[in-house]
Amino acid sequence: MSATNYNPYENAQAQFDKVAAMLGLDEGTCQLLRQPQQEVHFTIPVKMDDGTTKIFKAFRFQHSTARGPAKGGIRFHPHETADTVRALSMWMTWKCAVVDIPLGGGKGGVICDPRTMSQGEQERLCRGYIRHLWKELGNTVDVPAPDVMTNGQHMMWFMDEYETITGQHVPGMITGKPVGLGGSLGRTEATGFGVITCLNEALKKMELPIEKTTASIQGFGNVAEYAARKYTALGGKLIAVSCWNATDKVAYTFRKLTGCNAEELASIKDSFGSIDKEKAIALGYEVLPGDAWLSQDVDIIIPAALENQITPAVFGNISKTVKVICEAANGPTTPDCDPLIQERGLMLVPDFLCNAGGVTCSYFEQVQCNMNYFWTKEEVLEKLDSAMTKAFLDVYELAQEKKLYMRDAAYTIAINRVANAAKVRGWV
Ligand code: GLU
Repeated sequence: MSATNYNPYENAQAQFDKVAAMLGLDEGTCQLLRQPQQEVHFTIPVKMDDGTTKIFKAFRFQHSTARGPAKGGIRFHPHETADTVRALSMWMTWKCAVVDIPLGGGKGGVICDPRTMSQGEQERLCRGYIRHLWKELGNTVDVPAPDVMTNGQHMMWFMDEYETITGQHVPGMITGKPVGLGGSLGRTEATGFGVITCLNEALKKMELPIEKTTASIQGFGNVAEYAARKYTALGGKLIAVSCWNATDKVAYTFRKLTGCNAEELASIKDSFGSIDKEKAIALGYEVLPGDAWLSQDVDIIIPAALENQITPAVFGNISKTVKVICEAANGPTTPDCDPLIQERGLMLVPDFLCNAGGVTCSYFEQVQCNMNYFWTKEEVLEKLDSAMTKAFLDVYELAQEKKLYMRDAAYTIAINRVANAAKVRGWV
């Protein structure tokens, strides 16, 4: 099966069903948690710069509010589907639960390509999204955030439209806002830094000093960039970075065997994570095919782009030197790879644990907005580091104690917390 034949929602349900069966969850709870609680599908008419009107398909799904307001990003992607949003909303529930923050799970998406839209068109799209959806959102209801191809500017348009309609200041209705405008210091770095906190804890357990390791990353968007910065700052050697090239419309792997410089690569990328090929060559990078990131002789692979990137069809390409898969993206590995990962005895840092730093910092941002008092960057990053370390150790220790696969251990903790909230509320 090629990556495009995998349905992320079926993957998310298969992962859930496996652990729900292990836990002996009752049928009612299973039915409640294996699908979103609420789905809103709608269209947004946008006046384009050329005078035509384009209709965009949009979604916002709330998977679970058992533990608190729904929480999760809004993605802009030409290949967005309802099933991708369903899966991502489910993963948000487990993500918030595994780090034990009092939030549920949700996700939104718009089928569009912001890379081909002007700023004005994107602003009108964002405002249209809120005009349709504002009644379903709010500080105590459902709180969006950035995701694939959305950023702080989009969050400000969403927030401004919401505040204009409701006639109040509610910066806590959305997170990932720019610093000084209700955003939290550290939010930009949070997901990538959290990935490396988990990785570092995993390496300590494996008695592998991070400064003696090598890694290869797929993606160079926000998550990958800050993971790369943190990993190299801690002394790790980054061998390769693969990303989509906006000019040639293909992916390339940029490799430097003496070690990639994350700051340098960040300085030659566009806001969507596309690294400039010519500038990279001038800086001494080799340009290899897009999938070469997976077959590098490194200790750690970090898929930090989109879902369904590691399938059984490419699993054999992973170098025998690899010891750790650190899933920075949401759903990068298909469930049929899980037995292969276990057979090879690889350490897995599963996605909704690995990348929970973003939503954890979003939670801190919401707390600060609601207090109208903002912490220093050091305070935020310290709180983030301890939350991520604790979440990793909880999962790792359960995996050791019950001899569980790391993904199943993370699911066990998350599902138990959500199922318990639903039970105590009297829903099931
Ligand atoms: N989009 C990010 C994620 O998938 C962050 C979500 C949030 O901060 O609410 O975790």
